[in-house]
Amino acid sequence: MLKGKTALVTGSTSGIGLGIAKALAQQGANIVLNGFGDAQGPKHEIEALGVEVDYHGADMSCPADIEAMMAFAAQRFGRVDILVNNAGIQHVARVEHFPPERWDAVIAINLSSAFHATRLALPAMQAANAGKGWGRIINVASVHGLVASAEKAAYVAAKHGLVGLTKVTALENATTGVTCNAICPGWVLTPLVQKQVDAKAQALHLSNAEATKLLLGEKEPSLQFTTPEELGALAVFFCSPAADNVRGVAWNMDGGWAAQ
Ligand code: NAD
Repeated sequence: MLKGKTALVTGSTSGIGLGIAKALAQQGANIVLNGFGDAQGPKHEIEALGVEVDYHGADMSCPADIEAMMAFAAQRFGRVDILVNNAGIQHVARVEHFPPERWDAVIAINLSSAFHATRLALPAMQAANAGKGWGRIINVASVHGLVASAEKAAYVAAKHGLVGLTKVTALENATTGVTCNAICPGWVLTPLVQKQVDAKAQALHLSNAEATKLLLGEKEPSLQFTTPEELGALAVFFCSPAADNVRGVAWNMDGGWAAQ
């Protein structure tokens, strides 16, 4: 379905981003990976799916790096057809104890990076398909883009902001073939969440299994993690012709979290 298209997924060396990159590659899209840590493993995994893959190590907190990454992708593949703004970090502390530099980092990586990548990707998307436009922008927000939790001020503010950016981008392109939507996962067992399980286990003297059960039980009625594969399938739907008129939604996949 996506053969000949190119998808750039930020923060795709692990977790949800890697799951979405694989799902898009399974549909035939060429992939630009980004993120820290080992890029060779993910690159080889995706190459094995029979598509072309490249990697750019832009630090998503740095607008100049994002510009370099977008220029690299355009030069390497001609155009970015699908942009998945996924890179994200977390910091947990009450507002009065929240380190200002952590606030700035969360806002830069979880929100401003999506603005920069989007503004740079849009002109080519708008010009595609003989000027009628074709493009998909998928923002990986969170259930925390819809509801709040204590001690996550920067994350909740950034994710609510990302849902707002999603709606504006969708509206500004509503008469074109460029759509923009957000995905709002509940708990997904990735390194980002394992750190929170570890913190709970340590603070309450619990085993990993007990801390995991407690974490899920506090918020997620299904008591189950959403998987990167399930989120990848939702991203594939947003890229399909069936989703041509899905615009500006914030679609939660959260085991019922936001329904409470
Ligand atoms: P993860 O820690 O497994 O992956 C994060 C990715 O972002 C990694 O590839 C990492 O290298 C990259 N990254 C971090 N800082 C970066 C930077 N400055 N520049 C470039 N890349 C950077 O986390 P994840 O759980 O897969 O999270 C992915 C996205 O999903 C995040 O936006 C997160 O907020 C969101 N999310 C996660 C959950 C969850 O339960 N795990 C729930 C809702 C939303």
